[in-house]
Amino acid sequence: MDRLNAMISGGKSAWSTDQIATMEKLRDAAMSDPYALNELRHLTDNIGPRLSGSPQAQHAVDYVAGEMRSLGADVALEKATVPHWVRGEEKAELVSWAGQTPGTTQKIVLTALGGSAATPPEGITAEVVVVNDWQQLRALPPDGVKGKILLFNHPFDKELAAEGDGLNAYVGGVVYRGAGPIAAGAVGAAAVLVRSVGGADFRLPHTGMTEYAPGVPKIPAAAVTAEDADLLKDLTAQGPVKLHLTLTPQSFPDAQSYNVIADWKGTEHPEQVVIVSGHLDSWDLGTGAIDDGAGVVVAMQTIHLLKDLGIHPRRTIRCVAWMSEEEGSEGAAAYMADHKDDFANHVGAIESDLGADHPTGIYYAGRPELGQWLRPVSQVLDAINAETLIASPETGEDIDGLTTKGVPSFAPRQDSRFYFNYHHTAADTFDKVDPKHLNENAAVMAVLAYALADSPEPAPR
Ligand SMILES: [Zn+2]
Repeated sequence: MDRLNAMISGGKSAWSTDQIATMEKLRDAAMSDPYALNELRHLTDNIGPRLSGSPQAQHAVDYVAGEMRSLGADVALEKATVPHWVRGEEKAELVSWAGQTPGTTQKIVLTALGGSAATPPEGITAEVVVVNDWQQLRALPPDGVKGKILLFNHPFDKELAAEGDGLNAYVGGVVYRGAGPIAAGAVGAAAVLVRSVGGADFRLPHTGMTEYAPGVPKIPAAAVTAEDADLLKDLTAQGPVKLHLTLTPQSFPDAQSYNVIADWKGTEHPEQVVIVSGHLDSWDLGTGAIDDGAGVVVAMQTIHLLKDLGIHPRRTIRCVAWMSEEEGSEGAAAYMADHKDDFANHVGAIESDLGADHPTGIYYAGRPELGQWLRPVSQVLDAINAETLIASPETGEDIDGLTTKGVPSFAPRQDSRFYFNYHHTAADTFDKVDPKHLNENAAVMAVLAYALADSPEPAPR
């Protein structure tokens, strides 16, 4: 088998026949074990949305810590200071437009962006100006937006998503959500709207973090649904459109929260660490099943399977449930600060944060020879059609800091065709997760983590 691997991979396998057999055992157990699904059901249905700074986020921290302790992992809660923003009332209606039936209004479906400032409690009424992009904003006359509500109507690239590149379709639009309030505030807008970033078709608004800048007025910011963005574009082309907008979110002082760290100690090099992870916080509209309860539970499943099968790799496997990825990755930043003298001992980091659909393989960031080195692992994953190995500059938001410090980093390469239809919307709920696909992700995480933690030499870096 070693020789066969060597022939296929063009070099000697880093793992023995016994170790390959252990990977196969982990893979098969992950495919049949309900632990990840049950944990996901609890996180989403029982605990619910886990917005940073919320009671549910704290409850989830305690829950995951308890579950990991019960498996015999060494558990620590590591402090992270996180934003504490609470959604309020959010509603909008057109109060005047071309062709309006006298005495009527028309509802606009929207949701406040994370971190948004509030309108006065009674709301504001202003004319709507629609632009598709930054260029169109720059082309407006000076004062063209002053006192008005500016809509950035940048459509989600559904064709790109359908081709399997959901992430780049998302990245193409998310800049308007992030920077739109700064650009609109700088030209005197009273409020800013963005077209929902995502492919949802059922008039579901898509939330997500937004940004403000020092010296620029913090104006209220919300995402309208794709349907309502189209409506506003059509009506503003016919004449002036006035909108009444009420957003009453509240920003509180930063809260104390935690990353949950659970170590399955290595037998030979306990000081050397392989991270398996997802982020525990979520947006509040849904219950954070695909983003990113799924990532957390497949990381938890790695520890559970090691315990169940009695596997004790050479190095430590560290399950991390990151806090506050959605609102600025404060948990990851705290980890980078707390462990700054220990990056050399981080021999690998894995994060799953692109949903729970079928993984076609592994993204890796680091030295190019990682691909060749992982070939025997991909052969184990071939049985679940997760055999591709793709180099990528980034793997996961929370482990990005480690990637830049030279830690080999990895992510399951999920099918992202449908992810952004639900992500950050009220439809990100437990039912969206296919148990078989979830198990495939757990298999990728567990097999890869074991491979990294038990190879005679650490992964190339
Ligand atoms: Zn996420």
